[in-house]
Amino acid sequence: MEFPLWLMAAFMFLLGCCVGSFLNVVIWRLPARGTPVTFNNKTGPLTLSWPPSHCPLCQHSIAWYRNIPVLGWLMLRGRCRSCQAPISARYPLVELGTGLIYLSLYLGFFYAHWNHGAAPGVRGGAVAMVLYLIFVSCLLAASAIDADFFIIPLGIPYLIMAVALASCIFGDVKMLPSVTPASVSGNCAVGGTLGLLVSNALLYLKILPRSFSTPRDHNADESYAPMPLIPPPTLKKSWPQITAGFILAIGTLVTWIFCTGKIAALVTMVAGILAFLIGVLPRPLEAPDDSQQVLEESADINARGEIRKEILFLLPPVGLAVLAAFIPVTLPVWPWLARLLGVLLGLLVGGGMIWIIRILGTLVFGRVAMGAADAPLMAAIGAVVGAPAVIVAFFLAPILGLIWAVVLKFQGKPNVLPYGPWLSMAAILTLFIGNPVIHWYAGQLSPAPPPKTQSTMVWPGEPVSQPVPAHSNR
Ligand SMILES: [Zn+2]
Repeated sequence: MEFPLWLMAAFMFLLGCCVGSFLNVVIWRLPARGTPVTFNNKTGPLTLSWPPSHCPLCQHSIAWYRNIPVLGWLMLRGRCRSCQAPISARYPLVELGTGLIYLSLYLGFFYAHWNHGAAPGVRGGAVAMVLYLIFVSCLLAASAIDADFFIIPLGIPYLIMAVALASCIFGDVKMLPSVTPASVSGNCAVGGTLGLLVSNALLYLKILPRSFSTPRDHNADESYAPMPLIPPPTLKKSWPQITAGFILAIGTLVTWIFCTGKIAALVTMVAGILAFLIGVLPRPLEAPDDSQQVLEESADINARGEIRKEILFLLPPVGLAVLAAFIPVTLPVWPWLARLLGVLLGLLVGGGMIWIIRILGTLVFGRVAMGAADAPLMAAIGAVVGAPAVIVAFFLAPILGLIWAVVLKFQGKPNVLPYGPWLSMAAILTLFIGNPVIHWYAGQLSPAPPPKTQSTMVWPGEPVSQPVPAHSNR
């Protein structure tokens, strides 16, 4: 049976709001997991599910019906029912933002056809949709944690990579990246992956040294002490934030009336991103400014010496990728192998770009140029969007970061920026604009652009006009 579009759209929006509600828990608890907490006279390590949601000040439990995304916060008027302590406007805004982004992805791919004319044979499917929803949720969680603590728990990029690799085994998901085996890029993907495995083995065997292994650096590995459990920042006046979020949400409804589906889907996505950022980025004025401390800590470490260890780590993957480009390998042209190579190439290109910037920046400026988790995050982004689109995200991220730097400048606040949110938001936008930008750029290079391939979107339950052979080669 087929559901009407509006029903599916409403479902996706509500699903996004509920996932946003879960992300609020992840954002607050993931960095502090394991910290002993006392709740109702019971002491135990903090997990994602224990203790149940409660007011951080008076421990008053929050009833399930007041935990409803967005509406729960509005019903409570942003205050704890028991002790009247303000509840951060971040909660409803993260929920609203996630809901809008989920809605934009569904309508963008299954109604507005944002992927038409993308890479040959690109078309939508439920597997890609699920992959994108997990991808976006992980990026939102990583952004908020990075904004709060200047760390990204490495579990987040690894989860994205695992889901991207798992999606390779599903047949005929043409929205996913793919690279022809036995091509130069296919060979580079194989060589680079082998090199990455070699480097990790050498690191594990302690033949390669670990960089930044002093306990000061939280990014060195995940064995650092848990972060302190602090509630998300609460601004004195949360109504301007909330009002801005609702204006954005209502504004998107208006664009669906007056604009084409493509524009409206993109506006919905941008509105979702803005609502999320309005909830996550502002810090209370009276909050201790830890940016100076972050600067001092990073200056403390012998950054140039440490970063040279990372050059050693990068040598095998880069070396083998370059070497493999010149070796004639005959790989079978299986569709799943093409997808696997596409994921691996995106992973290597995305992670490699950020890592090289990190090394060069650190060597030039003498202090750590980028968080150690930014490279795995960009590798994960590349694994989902593919090698060409991750380059688009790479160039888009600093533009977004610059806009925020200008906002901070006008507010007279210090601008030590975590880079994770900008990489993440650029990656989410790339899901729509990545392929069109690549095509536009390719059109600039070649005088006669190839004709666009018209492909149809397939949603489970919809009749497929032409059955696709299981082992079709694109
Ligand atoms: Zn309370």
